[in-house]
Amino acid sequence: MDAQPTTPTRPTVVDGLAGAIGNTPLIRLRRASAATGCEILGKAEFMQPGGSVKDRAGLGIIQDAEARGQLTPGEPGIVVEGTAGNTGIGLTLVANARGYKSIIVVPRTQSREKLDFLRMIGADLRLVDPKPLRDPGHYVNTSRRIAEELQAQGERVIWANQFGNLANAAIHEATTGPEIWDQTGGRIDAFTCACGTGGTLAGVARALKARNPKVRIVLADPMGSGLYSWIKTGEVKAEGSSITEGIGQASAAPGNLEHGRDCIDDALQVDDPTALAQIFDLQQHEGISLGGSAGVNVAAAVALAKRMGPGHTIVTILCDGGARYQSKIFNPEFLREKGLPVPSWLA
Ligand code: PMP
Repeated sequence: MDAQPTTPTRPTVVDGLAGAIGNTPLIRLRRASAATGCEILGKAEFMQPGGSVKDRAGLGIIQDAEARGQLTPGEPGIVVEGTAGNTGIGLTLVANARGYKSIIVVPRTQSREKLDFLRMIGADLRLVDPKPLRDPGHYVNTSRRIAEELQAQGERVIWANQFGNLANAAIHEATTGPEIWDQTGGRIDAFTCACGTGGTLAGVARALKARNPKVRIVLADPMGSGLYSWIKTGEVKAEGSSITEGIGQASAAPGNLEHGRDCIDDALQVDDPTALAQIFDLQQHEGISLGGSAGVNVAAAVALAKRMGPGHTIVTILCDGGARYQSKIFNPEFLREKGLPVPSWLA
């Protein structure tokens, strides 16, 4: 029997967009739990107003800039950021709600759906070619340069700098982590998720370890990212590639991840076929449609459950929804091109 709809955990009326960010449900993933004898729970970040876990970072970074007096609600201001897309969406929505403009720099390889969404909500979208981080044309370096140029012209502007700005991890430490603790009643044995900036992992890890140092914290890493080896050996070494977006780092551990390094116990690697199998299974059998990074996270939670044995509670993050990747991981031509299996209902 399905459970009844849950009583909302937030007040019935919230104050504007900011009040609607966070307080997402924790969903028991039935098949993953049954297969492992563990309780595998996914934090439904795909239910956020902007559709991803990065709404929290968008809000945290803008609130922090306001607290520092760099931006003032209702007065002109510009938020500039380089992003795989989701942070740009979160920042732009919060900026719209407070009367700021946003300039969002994104590699043109990111899904069409995220780019269209950014245009739709009025971001000043600047597409760049994918480049290594050391290249001045890399999306992060480009966004920084744009912010500096506008500042030199006397504009009130912030460079959100989600990788280095610890307001990112701080909002997860203040909201996501405590929510998970409260929702599980403190009965949580492990937490795992992938890292883009590391804001989610570091913030949640710090909040959970502060409440119970025995909670095991495990980084989930896609192929092509060097963060698995960074945790294992201290050296960033990347091999292979992945179709996932918004996670993994090939050249350096971001500042937000380093901020939580002391709280991370271990790392796991997940390949694309394993992540995709989780996404397709969850969509077709549990009605939960997710993006690629959530597939990596659920696959990591399952692998961790198998290592830890039955009876444990393991929490992960369902970062964003499948609709954001219709043109990619739910597109048979894209899957065939990448040599990945096409599920029967898409073939
Ligand atoms: N999944 C998706 C789809 C994302 O866009 C991001 C952020 N780039 C992440 C996961 C990782 O989140 P964080 O930046 O907090 O590590």
